[in-house]
Amino acid sequence: MLVSTRASVAQNSRTFLHLARSFTSRTTEGFTGAVGNTPLIYLKKLSEKAGSKIYGKAEFQNPGGSVKDRAATAIVKDAEASGRLRFGGTVVEGTAGNTGIGLAHVCRARGYRCVIFMPNNQSQEKIDLLRMLGAEVYPVPVVPYENPKNYNHQAKAFAEALPNAVWTDQFDNVVNARTHYETTGPEIWEQTQGTVDAFICATGTGGTLAGVGKFLKEKSGGKTQIWLADPPGSVLHSFVQTGKLVERTGDSVTEGIGQGRVTDNLGTFVANLDGSLLIPDEESIKMVYDLLDTEGLYVGASSALNVVAAYKLAQKLGPGKTIATVLCDGAHKYQSRLFSKKWLEAKGLTGAIPEHLKKYAVL
Ligand code: PMP
Repeated sequence: MLVSTRASVAQNSRTFLHLARSFTSRTTEGFTGAVGNTPLIYLKKLSEKAGSKIYGKAEFQNPGGSVKDRAATAIVKDAEASGRLRFGGTVVEGTAGNTGIGLAHVCRARGYRCVIFMPNNQSQEKIDLLRMLGAEVYPVPVVPYENPKNYNHQAKAFAEALPNAVWTDQFDNVVNARTHYETTGPEIWEQTQGTVDAFICATGTGGTLAGVGKFLKEKSGGKTQIWLADPPGSVLHSFVQTGKLVERTGDSVTEGIGQGRVTDNLGTFVANLDGSLLIPDEESIKMVYDLLDTEGLYVGASSALNVVAAYKLAQKLGPGKTIATVLCDGAHKYQSRLFSKKWLEAKGLTGAIPEHLKKYAVL
């Protein structure tokens, strides 16, 4: 029923505008148009426990299923704009996971050949998925970065030998961090209406942390704290604490995060970090199960590590704060590990899962 008071007209038009806006945002230009503008999820139970508002940016809602769809899209578009990649060209990357999947989607959508070099210790599911997405996959022996046979160097050499081919170089191509500066950072700022006190996340390439961090620091006039979360076996936590880069030792069951060097994407931003937290695997794995049980969220171990870190940071900063982090991808690609009793046992992680959560380990 239409009521003609001034207030109700305003109310009706606000509702209409709201609907119009949400419908418009659902029409996108192909795969790449659907990347980004992900929801910011309020983690209710954890926030209540912490006495602060904790939010997770739902990057698993990107069309290729991860935060890396942003970098894959931006890097390909940049290569097109600079003329390095033209119709019928080839995109080459050294990657074990989400960047390859994002690139494979973008390549199908825009008509490019996609070639992926990956270490030959990766799960068959990842190889199968990349091949289903039309990528050519070359599993190569696992050797250190310094060795010219490392999968990254092989990808570079392959692209250099081919006309109209680009090596996307996710670690040191700073278009990666720039796209987070231009999209993810502004989205978080808007979604928290400028109230975000702190942002924390782990790094693989460093693109998300440096891009979002730089934007939030600038926009808040330095007020928003930016923290690194690091898994065991990464050198960055000790680098932030001591200023010294040590040899990489140890390992983590988390995938896609942890680093042995300061990449160009992390670059000088590392000096602007307010702090860092090292998160043990036991706590990350427990949080995978906790998020499922209490929030209904089915996310991978890097997302869970980020949420543990956000909670710890909330405790450090005191109550009443607003803290944002990233839910990087879903658990689907890792389910044969994360939800397998055998795998948990083999990794010595069975004890990390409390009795009431063990029912989720159904594989
Ligand atoms: N989580 C997962 C599952 C990833 O694949 C990656 C990228 N390797 C990250 C987190 C880290 O993102 P970034 O490369 O932007 O540091």
